[in-house]
Amino acid sequence: MVLTIAGSDPGGGAGIQADLKTFGALGAYGCAVLTALTAQNTRGVTGVHAVPPAFVAEQLATLVEDIALDAVKIGMIADAGIADAVADFLVDQRPPHVVLDPVMVATSGDRLLASSAEQVVRGRLLALADVITPNALEAAALLGTEPAESVEQAVQQVDALLDLGARGVLLKGGHLTGDTATDVFAERGGDLHRFSAPRLGTRNTHGTGCTLSSAMAALRPTSPDWPAAIDRAKEYLTAALRAADDLRIGSPDDQGRL
Ligand code: PLP
Repeated sequence: MVLTIAGSDPGGGAGIQADLKTFGALGAYGCAVLTALTAQNTRGVTGVHAVPPAFVAEQLATLVEDIALDAVKIGMIADAGIADAVADFLVDQRPPHVVLDPVMVATSGDRLLASSAEQVVRGRLLALADVITPNALEAAALLGTEPAESVEQAVQQVDALLDLGARGVLLKGGHLTGDTATDVFAERGGDLHRFSAPRLGTRNTHGTGCTLSSAMAALRPTSPDWPAAIDRAKEYLTAALRAADDLRIGSPDDQGRL
């Protein structure tokens, strides 16, 4: 059983909807605790309605009374109260294989995490996850620095995030320069791994981060370690992006922005 703790995207490309589709496609049984409803389409977010933190806590407590979890993925957490409720759950339950996608701002530019909550993500959640999966902008926001522009800078930022308390970091290279997208991964005290994938021309990239972190959570219980799970998750994501090229859903603009 794989749990996603995340927000809803009615358009079905990102959020809980993407997470559950990914779990199903990879043969995992998916559970979902909602943190927020968003009103959005492929062009952007028009509103966010966060779930009261006490009710996020109630969803989590009721779920684990009955269902044993094999892995957890955490996505949009909307505000500081929800971030604390999720952190309390991780401290109390210590579920296996926790992936935190520190979602902050959608590609469309809309905020998905209140800026006041960044401190809770940095100070509490970061150290409670086994792996965090920031893109270059999220890594920079967590570190209070400029975004990495090269793989060498990404390697330094992975080290800095481990120093900040993260136990494992996959810094995604989609925003870095180069013909291939290189992600950098390391766990505290472990070797550095680089994962390269071709940069695909598709415009249907909304929800790519949600899908990768969900695939990692779904595949970790049947993989010997995180690098093996990441390898398999990236293979799945590349195939999903290739397949998405033929889809005509909504109307992203010419830059592929939504
Ligand atoms: N909406 C929700 C509910 C999400 O969780 C996310 C990303 O995690 C997004 C939108 C943004 O997706 P993208 O930045 O790929 O457009």
